Amino acid sequence: MKTARNSGSDDYVCKHAWDEDMFVQCGGDGIVIGKNPYRTAFFEAFPNKPSCFLRGEGATIEEAEQACWDKYQKVLTCDHEMERRNRTDGYGYCKHCSYSSMVFEPLTKCCKCSVPTAHAKDKDGKWYCKKHERIIPRIKRPGSFFSGRDEGRAAPRRPRKIKKRLKNAAIVMFGRQNIFGKITFSVSVIDSVKMKCDGYQMSLLFREQERKLLRGKS
Ligand SMILES: [Zn+2]
Ligand SMILES: [Zn+2]
Repeated sequence: MKTARNSGSDDYVCKHAWDEDMFVQCGGDGIVIGKNPYRTAFFEAFPNKPSCFLRGEGATIEEAEQACWDKYQKVLTCDHEMERRNRTDGYGYCKHCSYSSMVFEPLTKCCKCSVPTAHAKDKDGKWYCKKHERIIPRIKRPGSFFSGRDEGRAAPRRPRKIKKRLKNAAIVMFGRQNIFGKITFSVSVIDSVKMKCDGYQMSLLFREQERKLLRGKS
């Protein structure tokens, strides 16, 4: 029986026949932030073939799973037609289904060698490939990854080292879901860290990873 990791609760027993090796997770009460924040149950799947991230929402986890499953079935049978939309980094979206992936070459080029890249950008907006990232002048390096603003109640500021570990974990967690962009975090009470990126928020789902990271090697 396939189960999904359920934030803040016991594992959820899936109603659909997801592949045994596919990672799935869900929650009865997630928050989608953005212009009009809302609460929703959600179900997220991370298929390997094709490698992508699918998310369903609904009034209940069952409904959310159904929505996610429907998306997955469509992805499996779709004759994808990819488009960049407003992205220049090579990431593409199917016009007909929920499939999205890094399928194009970046439209931006390394200012040093002209190879298409979306690897690193300096403060002036110039791009650098992996090889030439090291020549970004110190004064032109982008600012701190974190906004560092601790929202809400007074909470102890986290030591720099822990922030760095949280940052790395957040990049992994959001990246695995094909969510890229500036990540901000807020600390409301001790041990509750919310990571936000591109309209998504992770807290409880993130915490397990976070704990692992804080305990283990950096
Ligand atoms: Zn498609
Ligand atoms: Zn280069």
